[in-house]
Amino acid sequence: MTAIAEPTSQGTAQGARTLQNFIGGRWVDSSGTDTLPVYNPATEEVLAHVPLSNADDVAAAGRAAREAFKEWSEVPVPERVQSLYRLRTALLDDREALVRQISTENGKIYADAAGEYRRGIEVVEFAIGMPSLIAGYNVETVSRGIDTMLERYPLGVGAAITPFNFPFMVPLWTLPIAIAAGNAFILKPSERTPLSAELIVRLCQEAGIPDGVVNLVHGAADAVQGICADPNIDAVSFVGSARVARIVYEACGRNGKRVQALGGAKNHIIVMPDAVIDRSVENLSESAFGNAGQRCLAGSVMTVVGDAKDTVLPRVVERAEGIRLGFGLDEGVEMGPVIRPDARERIHSLIQQGLDGGAEMLRDGRTAVPDRGFFVGPTVIGIQPDSVLASEELFGPVLSVLKADTIDQAIELMNTSNEYGNAASIFTSSGKAAREFRRGTPAGMIGINVGVAAPVAVFPFSGHRNSFFGDLHVTGRDGVDFFTRKKTTTTRWF
Ligand code: NAD
Repeated sequence: MTAIAEPTSQGTAQGARTLQNFIGGRWVDSSGTDTLPVYNPATEEVLAHVPLSNADDVAAAGRAAREAFKEWSEVPVPERVQSLYRLRTALLDDREALVRQISTENGKIYADAAGEYRRGIEVVEFAIGMPSLIAGYNVETVSRGIDTMLERYPLGVGAAITPFNFPFMVPLWTLPIAIAAGNAFILKPSERTPLSAELIVRLCQEAGIPDGVVNLVHGAADAVQGICADPNIDAVSFVGSARVARIVYEACGRNGKRVQALGGAKNHIIVMPDAVIDRSVENLSESAFGNAGQRCLAGSVMTVVGDAKDTVLPRVVERAEGIRLGFGLDEGVEMGPVIRPDARERIHSLIQQGLDGGAEMLRDGRTAVPDRGFFVGPTVIGIQPDSVLASEELFGPVLSVLKADTIDQAIELMNTSNEYGNAASIFTSSGKAAREFRRGTPAGMIGINVGVAAPVAVFPFSGHRNSFFGDLHVTGRDGVDFFTRKKTTTTRWF
């Protein structure tokens, strides 16, 4: 059991220490001298200071990982996954501390943090199947007297660069799959939420994963540039905003690295007049306002078709009014803050731009928020398709509402009003409408009466357009392919 202090809305005994990198099995100071504060965004308390590591720190991690890879890739795969069984046990044993850490550094409420925790462990459980997942295939007698087989080999060193909004789950989208497949791994977590990642790495150490197989480098843009250029790193998995996803994708491409870069989102929800109202309202409010709208699968634009504007929309506004804000570990709190003051200001500014462009405020979340913490309340705004609120990702608890007469019109709006393609949902009782929607949406993760269509770990997390740059997605079989190199051998015996 890892000893971490118990956070409360009054503060934590943890103190504002400066975090260290974990390289080659040792906790070491970063060579970067600058640091940033890590906040509890609900209380504004400083939890720690994160060092801004540079390319030298990344290079040290790259060398340690390259060295560890030599032995780790020789460990038989059934033996490698024994480490993951131990890691899973350690993660399960530390549940309470981990869930509370996620909530404290990110601001999400306990129930959301518990959901994230479970979704992270799911990937460890998936990766434990690596002895089967990594299996190749063969064709006997592909020509006369000739057989061909395909084998998957580990790639070498993989690195993951992760965002603030799922500080536990997103590092675990790649870490277990990469190491079970025989690679060494470097994690560069978000500088705004680095504490859950630190706990994961400590538990990897506790689980006996050999030195250098899992490394941690804190930091921001400089560390990321170092990762994209480091010759010891073979593959880079990035999750974050579309702007940075593109930078990472291009830099890795220039340097000949395998790369997957998951970007931002602007997810549409279409509500048909035949939707089951009570269940739909609860589900789509959760999609828009859960995690304070800071999910890449959050519903951001709701298109009400026909009568749904009179039956569903008023209920969504009413639900938004009732949501209680506060520190996610306090009793009865339903929604936490956004991550930082600059995020709050950006959201306020986009709301204002929308209003200046003719949008109609239906529920204003900019006022009546707690005095302390970086809060934006649930907001609902009626917009036109050309509004900035239809095209820009806000990443906050703001639901923009469009109106349409038919499903075809609603699908058209979804396709043309923004350039993302992460998730999309429809609420309906009609199989025909659901089918049309599935075929017509540009999004890769589709919900039918499901507001947050997050696939479980056996499936790929499959965004498109500006929500994803690359080919192989994270998790599922794509995840295994991403972290392995295929070879075919064609054999003839004389
Ligand atoms: P971000 O792009 O600001 O940061 C992501 C990572 O990039 C961090 O580790 C950060 O240190 C690094 N970074 C930031 N600026 C950089 C720069 N200029 N150069 C190089 N690296 C840089 O994203 P965020 O605010 O932490 O996370 C929220 C975003 O992530 C949202 O856009 C959200 O939609 C997206 N997201 C997408 C998915 C998905 O699956 N598509 C999942 C989660 C989050």
